[in-house]
Amino acid sequence: MNFLITGAAGFLGSTLANHLIRAGHQVRALDDLSKGDPQALSPEVHFTRGDVSDRPKLWTLLQEVDCVYHLAARVSVPESVLYPREYNTANVGGTVSLMEAMRDVGVRRVILASSGAVYGDQGEQPLKEAATPDPHSPYAVSKIAAEYYVRTIGKLWGMETVCLRIFNAYGPGQHLPPSHPPVVPHFLRQALRGGTLVVHGNGDQTRDYVYVDDVVSAMAAAAIASNVNGLVINVGSGTETSIRELVKKVGEVTGREVDSLNNSNTSGGVSRMKADLTLAGQKLNYKPSIKLDEGLRLTLQRDPRFK
Ligand code: NAD
Repeated sequence: MNFLITGAAGFLGSTLANHLIRAGHQVRALDDLSKGDPQALSPEVHFTRGDVSDRPKLWTLLQEVDCVYHLAARVSVPESVLYPREYNTANVGGTVSLMEAMRDVGVRRVILASSGAVYGDQGEQPLKEAATPDPHSPYAVSKIAAEYYVRTIGKLWGMETVCLRIFNAYGPGQHLPPSHPPVVPHFLRQALRGGTLVVHGNGDQTRDYVYVDDVVSAMAAAAIASNVNGLVINVGSGTETSIRELVKKVGEVTGREVDSLNNSNTSGGVSRMKADLTLAGQKLNYKPSIKLDEGLRLTLQRDPRFK
């Protein structure tokens, strides 16, 4: 098949692109490199630098494409609290531009990388796709808005759409920006450096950490699955882990004594997250295979930054 991946030089995009190449597909990649690194892509991927709102570029890139993976986005919850307008422009405006270009060219299917963050705080766990979204941050608002645009424009113009609500993905190659880094690689690096792990809130809040290879297997399945048009599907591990437990596991896999302290900054966060994977199992034959301890070990082994 012919694929276009937006945000392809990023953590999930590059892992997905390299997986699809290994499976014998043609992959075009678009990324503005605001964060991504094209060196992460295998040489067989056709990389173009550009913004996801650049319509002339999209018209060219979309020719003969069977399926688009839309991953280009700003991805930090705390950063989105500071810069909501930028998150709206990139994540919502970018999605609408892409959908218009896909409509113009006539692409069959689009798969959106949405987020478990759209659920916010729900009384009931595990989180089911039918729950009413309760976004707590501009990032989460941008993701639910992108879902609605993708599904609505897709329905109006006869494009197949699948929105994958990815939970906390981690693994080798995840970006570590100086401000607002994702928690898993940040904690691993801090532990290896002998630094302090700063826990927001009391550390009881839980997340569903899912290893990147499991996310990629769900994404690959979404391109060829039948009876998925218009669906929103969770992609997680189905297990919840508190930040306190994560600190302990990071200490175990790194073999270091870890120091942690709590601060009161919980802006934009939620208290519990655990994905219900029933629909993913039924529609994508998805079954996460890598538990957190193993995933942390694989991340340390496979990511040269942790050597
Ligand atoms: P990432 O930051 O590594 O990748 C995003 C990529 O998009 C970056 O390479 C960046 O340069 C690019 N980009 C940003 N704005 C762009 C624009 N306007 N035009 C073109 N490229 C642009 O993040 P990631 O973790 O790989 O996330 C990929 C997608 O998956 C995002 O849409 C994110 O919201 C979603 N997601 C990720 C997670 C996770 O835990 N990693 C969880 C839920 C959802």
